[in-house]
Amino acid sequence: MNTMRQKMVAGNWKQNGDQALVKTMQDGLSKLAFNGVEVVVCPPFPYLGAFEAKGFKLGAQNLSLHDSGAHTGEVSGSMLKEVGCQYVIVGHSERRADNSEDNDVVAQKVQQALAAGLTPVLCFGESEQVRDSGQLFDFIQSQLEPVIALIGVARLAETVLAYEPIWAIGTGRTATPEQAQEVHQFVRSYIAEKDASVAANLTILYGGSVKADNAELLFAQPDIDGGLIGGASLKLDDFVAICQAAE
Ligand code: PEP
Repeated sequence: MNTMRQKMVAGNWKQNGDQALVKTMQDGLSKLAFNGVEVVVCPPFPYLGAFEAKGFKLGAQNLSLHDSGAHTGEVSGSMLKEVGCQYVIVGHSERRADNSEDNDVVAQKVQQALAAGLTPVLCFGESEQVRDSGQLFDFIQSQLEPVIALIGVARLAETVLAYEPIWAIGTGRTATPEQAQEVHQFVRSYIAEKDASVAANLTILYGGSVKADNAELLFAQPDIDGGLIGGASLKLDDFVAICQAAE
């Protein structure tokens, strides 16, 4: 089947960066063009409004479960949209761990993002313990199933998925291209059982210690459409090199 999958590289700054980094990234990225690659920068909330997304897109790292109201400290999807976001990361393993976001909360946040006109970047992935237990694929399926049950498989076409094995995040221990491809292929065929066209066109990113020197081999895998980048998204040169690897 011919596909028109969007290649993408998204930088997740997490709780890092400052106004100087905003300026460096803004100036550096807006001068460049990445052929056929959607480049997304996801800084902390306070810096979103300081970007003028030119040549790249803006994403947030989280959104509220609620539309508005008495939810101190929360930020809604429509607010993110208003300050120029097109994407929002949902279900990152750090939020699942630090903020007890379970698969049902994650599914509701995906729904909230879509309702606000944002593209959710839905993160999933196993711990080392799950991988070692032999339950890898069941676990991955259990993370995706509640989202599909809530929004329906057709609306997955409006999302981006990001496979992020927890043991590879921030550890310098990247999944091998073969390990990552195996999971990406599993996810695509699992979705294809429900809707072949949605599966064929779905962008599935890999995340977990992607660096300038390992990006190309990962992105060359047939079911890997780009990366979600943590640490290496905080240095302009490294991030640019990773974006170029996706071209
Ligand atoms: C992430 O947190 O999404 C991530 C992939 O981090 P790192 O690239 O630093 O492993």
